Amino acid sequence: METKWITEQAHLLGFDLCGVVSAAAFPELDYFKDWIAHGFQGEMKYLEDPRRQDPSLVLESLRSIVVCGLNYNTEHPYSVEVAGTIHPGGARGWISRYAWGDDYHEVLWSKLNALELLLKQKVSEPFGARAYADTGPVPERVLAKYAGLGWLGKNTLLLNEKLGSWLFLGVILTSLDLVPSLTDNERPPVDLCGNCRQCLDACPTGALVEPYVMDARRCISYLTIELRGSIPEEFREQMGWQVYGCDICQDVCPYNRAAPIAPLKEFQPRDMDTDKSLLLPELEWLARLTEEEFREIFRGSAMKRTKWKGMVRNACVALGNTGLERSKREAREAIDTLERLAKSRDEVIAESAEWALSRI
Ligand code: SF4
Ligand code: SF4
Repeated sequence: METKWITEQAHLLGFDLCGVVSAAAFPELDYFKDWIAHGFQGEMKYLEDPRRQDPSLVLESLRSIVVCGLNYNTEHPYSVEVAGTIHPGGARGWISRYAWGDDYHEVLWSKLNALELLLKQKVSEPFGARAYADTGPVPERVLAKYAGLGWLGKNTLLLNEKLGSWLFLGVILTSLDLVPSLTDNERPPVDLCGNCRQCLDACPTGALVEPYVMDARRCISYLTIELRGSIPEEFREQMGWQVYGCDICQDVCPYNRAAPIAPLKEFQPRDMDTDKSLLLPELEWLARLTEEEFREIFRGSAMKRTKWKGMVRNACVALGNTGLERSKREAREAIDTLERLAKSRDEVIAESAEWALSRI
């Protein structure tokens, strides 16, 4: 089947990028083995799943992979543009851009499922297909590169020359023998990072240990979302005001300077212009949330992944980084909240609150 038909349908469904790649042994999957051997994945044991290094283990009859990209950029500022400025109404935190709106898994799912359905209507004979919206043991970024969607940047993310890196990736693995986007004589898009190393220089925790290599154990995204225990002390100060993920290595990337804005209202920050806004959320509000409030507020949001305990832990650490002065009136409420949390039965929360109090 012609790739053109599939990519046209994907664009009609709202995807910004779409390409097809034939199943093969991609060199990056070998590097991934070394990455795991170094232990860079930390507690993310799911990354050790051997299927991540061989997509044919996910679908035995695998012949082709359709890879789709969806832009989630919004018109709101980048974290590096507003960090350190004074925000009205108390100390603020930063939530990663991808988590401001509705859960992207759901948005991707509905589009991928619709594309899979169209394929089934188009092809008369039965075939195998499995769609993953950042939900399966699939090396999406590598597949995206060989489907012609972009190159893998020094910040380890997929970069597209026109769209930048604010992209969600979804895939459909299929037994269909589809015509790949790149012919045998075509190479994947050229790496345009050149001499640039802005992402490496801007990373506060040194997580980009060398170009194209991330030690996830040092990455603020890992520390604030995936890590379940206490945040190691060596990284707490560098975490700054980040309470869920980190955008810095994307914010500074020149290819994101003029990145287009996504039209989808689903990616706009929830509860904008209220005291529950996910864009520049009040840290005390996050630290004060009860478990029930957390469940209610983050229903249908990607942020539920960090769980209530993780969010309160992160908010405590960020409060400890605000530079609040004990003698100042505006520190009073934060101190009250942290003193209450320091008595929590949860050891991680109590210890994080105590650390924050020691810095106010
Ligand atoms: Fe560094 Fe933040 Fe990028 Fe992680 S997300 S590599 S901490 S800049
Ligand atoms: Fe590449 Fe520079 Fe972007 Fe890093 S900041 S991914 S080096 S272009």
